[in-house]
Amino acid sequence: MAEQAFYDQLLIGWFALAGSVFLILLFISAPYGRHARGGWGPTVSNRLGWIIMEAPTLIVFDVLWLIGDYPTSAASLVFAAMWHLHYVNRTLIFPFRIRGDKDKRMPALVMLMGVIFNCGNGYVQARWIFTLSGGYPTEWLADPRFLVGAAVFLTGWYINLQADDILRNLRKPGETGYKIPKGGFYRWVSCPNYFGEVVEWTGWAIATWSIGGLAFAFWTFANLVPRALTNHKWYRDKFDDYPAERRAVIPYVL
Ligand code: NDP
Repeated sequence: MAEQAFYDQLLIGWFALAGSVFLILLFISAPYGRHARGGWGPTVSNRLGWIIMEAPTLIVFDVLWLIGDYPTSAASLVFAAMWHLHYVNRTLIFPFRIRGDKDKRMPALVMLMGVIFNCGNGYVQARWIFTLSGGYPTEWLADPRFLVGAAVFLTGWYINLQADDILRNLRKPGETGYKIPKGGFYRWVSCPNYFGEVVEWTGWAIATWSIGGLAFAFWTFANLVPRALTNHKWYRDKFDDYPAERRAVIPYVL
């Protein structure tokens, strides 16, 4: 089978899997972080789990970038820069800045599912951009779809980063437990880190104008919107003084 045919088949399955994951996560929260619980098999250290889980976003993407047919075109370099803007932080910086219980663990199963997703997604994104697309011309960088998408991407990236920072600073080094986050987009939603992430990859989908990019935006929505709904309920149950006007993940909407 030609690779393009394989890629197209993979995308169909990839969308179907994201839809199934969305439905499952509406009923079963992934057992890490505040929803960590026993009964999910062997566990790994939380920090190591994050690094291993996210590593394919750099390894798979970068290998396919280097062996791709159009690794050094201007558009390829810009897309690679956008990708690394997010994933160098998520893989190599974020895990080392996590505060809280040093002995916190996550199920190896969660880590494994993250690895599988990130390998698949790394292939879907990088193989399209650097090879199967036939190469984005330099003029693409002046196309309104790219410009709007890049602006949306950067907006989401900023919201996500700011929200992660606010959460991190809720705990002093060594402190554990949970507090009500305030400031930034927490004024409107309980999970602006997830909102930012959905906005970011929606921007990526627009900027790349690709079905693969759309699949990533859909996956992000499928993964994080159910978790935001669960977190929102968790906050309301835990804190009597939780701001009543705050929504779960989409300001004023959801
Ligand atoms: P969470 O918001 O659950 O937690 C982030 C960190 O903040 C954890 O260290 C957590 O501690 C701590 N924290 C959370 N809430 C509070 C609080 N109220 N008080 C004090 N500390 C708190 O985010 P995730 O771990 O689910 O995700 C981390 C990042 O990864 C996010 O930016 C998210 O968008 C991204 N992500 C992206 C996915 C995708 O599909 N693209 C999938 C999953 C995550 P503790 O661990 O102790 O709960």
